[in-house]
Amino acid sequence: MTFDAQTELQSASLTQAQPASTHAVRPRVGIIGGGVAGSTVALRLAQQGQLDVVLMEQGPSLVNGPPMCHLHAGGNLYREISDEQCLKLLKQSIDTLKLYPHVVNVRPTVIAVPTRDAGDPMALLPRLEKLKAAYAELVARDPDNARLGPPAHYYRLFDRQQLESLRDAPLPEVPQSPEQWMVPLAKSLDFDSVQWPLVMVQEYGLSLFRVAASAELSLAQFPQVEVMCRTRLLDAKPRGAGWALQFEQDGQSRTITVDYLVNACGYRTGTLDDVLGEPRQRLVEFKAAYLAHWPEAQGTWPEVIFHGARGTPEGMAQLTPYGNGLFQLHGMTESITLFKSGLVASDGHSAQPRLAPELEAKIQRGWPEAVVDTRSRAAIAHMSHFLPEFANAQPGGKPLFGAQQIPGTDPSLRAADVSFGRQRYARTEIVKASSALTAANAIVAQLSEQGWVDGQELSLPAINRDEVVARAVELAESRHYPKQLALPSGG
Ligand SMILES: Cc1cc2nc3c(=O)[nH]c(=O)nc-3n(C[C@H](O)[C@H](O)[C@H](O)COP(=O)(O)OP(=O)(O)OC[C@H]3O[C@@H](n4cnc5c(N)ncnc54)[C@H](O)[C@@H]3O)c2cc1C
Repeated sequence: MTFDAQTELQSASLTQAQPASTHAVRPRVGIIGGGVAGSTVALRLAQQGQLDVVLMEQGPSLVNGPPMCHLHAGGNLYREISDEQCLKLLKQSIDTLKLYPHVVNVRPTVIAVPTRDAGDPMALLPRLEKLKAAYAELVARDPDNARLGPPAHYYRLFDRQQLESLRDAPLPEVPQSPEQWMVPLAKSLDFDSVQWPLVMVQEYGLSLFRVAASAELSLAQFPQVEVMCRTRLLDAKPRGAGWALQFEQDGQSRTITVDYLVNACGYRTGTLDDVLGEPRQRLVEFKAAYLAHWPEAQGTWPEVIFHGARGTPEGMAQLTPYGNGLFQLHGMTESITLFKSGLVASDGHSAQPRLAPELEAKIQRGWPEAVVDTRSRAAIAHMSHFLPEFANAQPGGKPLFGAQQIPGTDPSLRAADVSFGRQRYARTEIVKASSALTAANAIVAQLSEQGWVDGQELSLPAINRDEVVARAVELAESRHYPKQLALPSGG
């Protein structure tokens, strides 16, 4: 098995590979893929100080893959996943904020169960109680874990009467209390479209662009890490106890050797598994979120989730607020976020699930404008079932989209991290950004067992928040997205 780039591979001229380094020298780790997973592994390994790291990313900058807008500190968006996954996501999210402190948009998430939905809001409570207790325990163990506010306030309920009383309340510029956060929703919600009570939970937003900027600026502080963007791995072969990696950069093919290989290729992880002859079962799902301008939007919004049965026309609707009337929308139906044949599985012949050509084309070459318009308008209509005035919103530009991998066969899996193949080979298999650090820690633990590193706890030199924001804005603009997606928003 080979990469899709087989023809280029055949015509490429190989330079002489050096033998894999020995432990008398410093071991070198090669990481393929500079998404949040690969970048986080690179940071954790760099911090150990005993390794050299090469991070290859085919795109022009780090973290340029599928979007991320929600931290998932408790997994409350997903009714269908286990409590165990939710607890894992809670802890992973808190740890992620220690690694990347400038990436979060501090605003709560409001969860509503629609009237048309078969669910019951009270059925959400046992899990919320478990999460609150687990959060309290984490904070009791280490006060630095209190990243989501006081544990006693992790969630709270609002009944219809409370929301009615907030309808005429003044709109605060910077909300200071749960009630103040509810005011914009109280003014816009169709009260009959949802069941009561509503839940407000301290699940915050995430800025993809500030994650990208944080990863880039943090890695720049470590001379032992070589970040190679616009660099595509073409082939990998065993060489001594390590690996020879053939890659293309600036139209030239070159080879380096590494002692340990990390496959962090995101939805293309299976392509490298195939090259190495490593069988693995996984799913890949293509999804998209849309931008909308709602100039009449008033006040500072929380994130709002309207639950719904996934894949049906009444699938979950997610409203993610940014500044200046810009919102990001998900609608878990086939006409909005999901796609016909958008979920594909690997088979006995290949570890790489194959997306339909039209979906792969969307990733590689972008979207026809008419499709952007139709799907953005469908997303706006989906949301206006609950917020009638949202029907006046207009499509807000290029969608956020991409494919993500899900290891195994369960499409609802949300908390996954890493798996190890043959000796000196690891693959990150995260479904949510907050799992990247768990994957990185597991790789550090394995290398520590082998005596390559000491396995030091996480501790990184601080990076400047203003620099992160400035770089994030540059990245957003270079990728043709509004700069609001990069700016800190919320209270
Ligand atoms: C619509 C949508 C919404 C989402 N929302 C959220 C959210 O709110 N919160 C959240 O936590 N997660 C969200 N996710 C999931 C999240 O985007 C992914 O889990 C995350 O991006 C995976 O990171 P990764 O580093 O594993 O993969 P990627 O980000 O895909 O990175 C893999 C990298 O490998 C590179 N690469 C691949 N092959 C090669 C090669 N041969 N040579 C060199 N480089 C290569 C690619 O260019 C890419 O940059 C969402 C996903 C989608 C699709």
